[in-house]
Amino acid sequence: MEKKQLDWANIGFTYIPTDYRYVSNYKDGAWDKGALSTEANIVLSECAGVLQYAQTAFEGLKAYTTKDGRIVTFRPDLNAERINNSAKRLEMPPLPEGQFLNAVDQVVSSNGAYVPPFGSGATLYLRPYMFGSSPVIGVKPAEEYQFRVFATPVGPYFKGGVRPLTLRICDEDRAAPNGTGHVKAGLNYAMSLHAIVEAHTLGFDENMYLDAATKSMVEETGGANFIFITKDKKVVTPKSNTILPSITRRSLMEVAEKYLGLTVEEREVPVSELGEFAECGLCGTAAVISPVGKIVDHGKEILLPSGMEGMGEVTKQLYDTLTGIQMGEIEAPKGWIHEIKA
Ligand SMILES: *Cc1c(COP(=O)(O)O)cnc(C)c1O
Repeated sequence: MEKKQLDWANIGFTYIPTDYRYVSNYKDGAWDKGALSTEANIVLSECAGVLQYAQTAFEGLKAYTTKDGRIVTFRPDLNAERINNSAKRLEMPPLPEGQFLNAVDQVVSSNGAYVPPFGSGATLYLRPYMFGSSPVIGVKPAEEYQFRVFATPVGPYFKGGVRPLTLRICDEDRAAPNGTGHVKAGLNYAMSLHAIVEAHTLGFDENMYLDAATKSMVEETGGANFIFITKDKKVVTPKSNTILPSITRRSLMEVAEKYLGLTVEEREVPVSELGEFAECGLCGTAAVISPVGKIVDHGKEILLPSGMEGMGEVTKQLYDTLTGIQMGEIEAPKGWIHEIKA
């Protein structure tokens, strides 16, 4: 297939429309069979459930070219499962897992010209999402829904090298106890926009959110989970039922245990322990892991021993192993790599 002539190394993380997207509508109690469309715009009722009461959830995953030239996605079955957990929490109708997976495959294969070549560092980012499309004015779930998947090429995350992040501990909350922090709802992001704009204005890269109830335990950032490495090389990730279960983080914990032979712990992480760790990273689909160099707790600086120059030793091993698995250079656990035929 003739590739689009894009400057893969410099496209950044912005929306670039591609040729095809998948659309399925839910009406009279059932999802239709769905189809690809060339129409990037949506016409909706001014009173659609998504516009009035934010009834929407999304996913994010990537398609990319492996070393041996296959086009693949990474564990898309977990995205299918997670969007349905989000749908249930927001009173939206679940989508059959097979339909989700087929939709993602169709969007990738029809936009094959936009899947970046191996070695470019760029990927084709996929955005599945679901929203209430019928009019709702009294507070209740919509009766009709739309599910879409679009694709947009994105550049390498660490353009110009790895730069460890500086975080601040944030006074605002991302998620309430028994709220929606554990599902991928657009509303969680709407809540975080003010805090992230403020963080950037003050010179921080990200917010570290604490548990809303006690303000003593580490949760996550606006869109990525934490992993910490202890001085004796244990891999620790915060446990809380208001954290969004990152597929990248779950995969990294498995890689740490099974490929690197490290001890892993999912447990509460008190803020008071932050000064004890050797390394810290943010995990999510976009970066895999971004190293954190500094955490500022209301003026008090916590400097990670891994420093501000690059990834710490264990973070780098984790990063190299998982990206090696994704790119087909290291053998993957069964079911992690899903190949898409052109
Ligand atoms: C999507 C998301 C993540 C990262 O999840 P991945 O599945 O690894 O991409 C982490 N935290 C939040 C709040 C998210 O929305």
